[in-house]
Amino acid sequence: MIHVTRTFLPPQAEYQKILKRAWNTGWMTNRGVLVQELEDKLKKYLNVPNIIATTNGTLPLQIAIKALGLAGEIITTPFSYVATTSSIVWEGCKPVFVDIHPEYLTIDETKIEAAITSQTTAILATHVFGNPCAVEEIEVIAQKHNLKVIYDAAHCFGVTYKGKSIFEFGDVSTCSFHATKLFHTGEGGALFTKNEELHNTLFYHHNFGHKGKESFQGLGINAKMSELQAAMGLAVLPYMQKIISDREKNIAQYKAELTDLQFLKIRPNTHWNSAYMPVLFETEKSLIKTIKQLNNEGVFPRRYFYPSLNTIPYVEGKKLTIAESISKRILCVPLYSGLKKSEIDKIVHLINTSI
Ligand SMILES: *Cc1c(COP(=O)(O)O)cnc(C)c1O
Repeated sequence: MIHVTRTFLPPQAEYQKILKRAWNTGWMTNRGVLVQELEDKLKKYLNVPNIIATTNGTLPLQIAIKALGLAGEIITTPFSYVATTSSIVWEGCKPVFVDIHPEYLTIDETKIEAAITSQTTAILATHVFGNPCAVEEIEVIAQKHNLKVIYDAAHCFGVTYKGKSIFEFGDVSTCSFHATKLFHTGEGGALFTKNEELHNTLFYHHNFGHKGKESFQGLGINAKMSELQAAMGLAVLPYMQKIISDREKNIAQYKAELTDLQFLKIRPNTHWNSAYMPVLFETEKSLIKTIKQLNNEGVFPRRYFYPSLNTIPYVEGKKLTIAESISKRILCVPLYSGLKKSEIDKIVHLINTSI
């Protein structure tokens, strides 16, 4: 069977060698040596001034909303994983959806201002599939209307825009290190901000608000990464170059062989990370027919991202033509280090003969 992705597993001996250090200390969590080492290595790898490793990529969104003191309405994208929207609702705010750009698939910055009301406090947008939002235009809008900006950068490990880490944009950026993501720690994630004071607030929030053992800076929750998770990250990190270059080859092959489908357009000045291989069909009918054909042959792509989040049951969403149309017609085809050329040939043949 071929799934949409396959988690990269480092040689077990290498993972165990790192784990042994956790055994030696007897220290499983609470920011032990492995979490600290992973944070140091990620700061260098990603070229960012600050990072807080977390236990997943969803709590960072909730912590960012909390730390920025957001209330009322948050402008957001309908084309993302559900965690982007659910975090807004979970924190007691109201998501206000703005349609997306038809080719970049990120929030359409030209439609943001029309959605701003006296209740709006922030913009929470996703760099979907690792493709950056229009970060400069969004910054201008945010400054003009005194709004905070959070980027759900769950897909963005290693992405740079104009030579800078994409995690440096916005007030806070978040990432996910889930097993299905490009770089992973099984479950895991991270928080990024350039603002030192905000970094400290985020840090306290992710560890119950503890300021020392017996006093508290304020309210907090538990979003700490464990030593076991960090060990996986430390074992995977040395392979990132290979993981990305293998995927680049896969993507080049798909693009050369898939004849009638539209591909994701990457924003100019972006060094992309090849995190996903989304393809856009002309109709949902053709997409569904193709999925059936692939499933019959043991290939399991995923409908990332469907449904459009403005249509899920617990939100009030107006109709959004582009996001709804695209979410019905987009499919992520298998992409992972280790996917064989012959397997892509087979997948492409099944798609080309089905549409
Ligand atoms: C994966 C993902 C998340 C959530 O990350 P977890 O690590 O699974 O909690 C949030 N947003 C987007 C866009 C994602 O794809």
